[in-house]
Amino acid sequence: MPASQQLAEVALRTGTLPDLPQGHFIDGGFRPAAAGRHMESFDPGSAAPFADFACGDADDVAAAVESARRAFENVWRDVPAAERGRVLQRAAGLIREEAARLAVVECLDSGKPLAEAEGDVRGAARAFEYYAGACDKLQGDTFPIGPGYLGYSHHEPVGVAAQIIPWNYPISTAARGIAPALAAGCAVVAKPAEQTPFTALLLAEILKRAGLPDGVCNVVTGTGAEAGAPLVAHPGIDHVTFTGSVATGIDVMKAAADNVTRVVLELGGKSPVIVLADCERERALDGVMGAIFENAGQICSAGSRLIVERSLHDGFVAELCRRAEALTLGHGLRNPQMGPVNSAAQLGRVAGFIERARGRGVAIATGGGETADPESGRGWFYQPTIVADCAAGDELVCEEVFGPVLTVQIAEDAEHALALANDSQYALVAGVYTRDFATAHRLAQRLDAGQVYINEYFAGGIEVPFGGNKKSGFGREKGLEGLLGYCRTKSVAARL
Ligand code: ADP
Repeated sequence: MPASQQLAEVALRTGTLPDLPQGHFIDGGFRPAAAGRHMESFDPGSAAPFADFACGDADDVAAAVESARRAFENVWRDVPAAERGRVLQRAAGLIREEAARLAVVECLDSGKPLAEAEGDVRGAARAFEYYAGACDKLQGDTFPIGPGYLGYSHHEPVGVAAQIIPWNYPISTAARGIAPALAAGCAVVAKPAEQTPFTALLLAEILKRAGLPDGVCNVVTGTGAEAGAPLVAHPGIDHVTFTGSVATGIDVMKAAADNVTRVVLELGGKSPVIVLADCERERALDGVMGAIFENAGQICSAGSRLIVERSLHDGFVAELCRRAEALTLGHGLRNPQMGPVNSAAQLGRVAGFIERARGRGVAIATGGGETADPESGRGWFYQPTIVADCAAGDELVCEEVFGPVLTVQIAEDAEHALALANDSQYALVAGVYTRDFATAHRLAQRLDAGQVYINEYFAGGIEVPFGGNKKSGFGREKGLEGLLGYCRTKSVAARL
């Protein structure tokens, strides 16, 4: 039996896991909250608390930022790039060695199916591997400023980078922020979401074992108001990477403005998936299902708006409904096809959207109700839901639900599909399914989105820059652009 399966059985039997990290991770070790407070983390699959963690406040944040500042100025920024790369590479190896435990912890904390958590852990290892290889390729430029002069630039680390991490992809988001920050020579203070604190703590401890000097990567746990807000407002922070809701992103940007701190904001989405009549039908069906039902739709880049060409519509949507009804739901540790949503609050939000839609007379083609883990009768589950033929201005088409809810709009042709797709306050991701590559790339040029997937939704990995336009935010993570986000250019111009 694979290691993750064995551990999953322990967690299912006991309702918890042994040896979960206690305390914040500050200055190279776990330490309790300054005020001695704790809070509970819940298992969404059973709706029961499974462990305590430190509930931090401004004092804990101050200790973490001071530790990061010391480690940045006295140690990390001067560590040779190749050595930084070796630390990150060792971290990638350790993540792989401990993948089973990390995945089970992630599954229990977030609710997602174990196979998805395993994929996230592989992705986290890959992020460290990718940026390990990039550390010593961060090179500057020279400028032709004339005879008798020398002009050149190099990339300096920004300093201490705050990472505000959401609950839907805890280890993935932590890794895609922490790895490039460390690669650039920055120190980090990360604040995982209060719903999912554990894998960020485990990651910090793995980095220490990989040889990262004390203080270079710190993790403070607690709520957004008590730990997140003081972190982004702290004058010792030089950069904030925030992934979360639009409303909180606006607060973060305002707080950062007071110290003129740079921010990268990865916010919400309402991403369209355009399916044209000439698509490869099976591929498109698989793609649309994964785009909305992976992680129970709790993905900023979920493909939550299907825009399908009229001639394909009826049979395509009927088949989607059939597949949605056949999806197995259950506790993430039993590895169903779809798990619960992450919290009671999120379940309430999703249910509220559908209740309001019913009130407006919108037809729900399938799903549209709360449900439970079939084994235990517990947990925060929502049925895979498809809302057919939704009007462009409807709340369900315009607002991010962040749950397993797909809307369907009918397009007359590719141009009409493009207009419907771009009619959104968000612009994070867009998908296109067609066999006609000229049409696909023409649409890709004109779709307002940070990234466009052609014939495979979620194609690509850490190599591909990721981020949004409009209310989906700005700045790019992942890829070499993500690394440059943690650098500042210093230009030198000299008369010889
Ligand atoms: P949600 O509403 O789905 O919980 P948020 O965008 O509020 O999503 O949360 C994303 C992350 O931002 C979490 O780590 C949360 O604790 C943190 N957070 C919430 N409010 C603030 C804030 N005012 N300042 C900084 N971080 C915050």
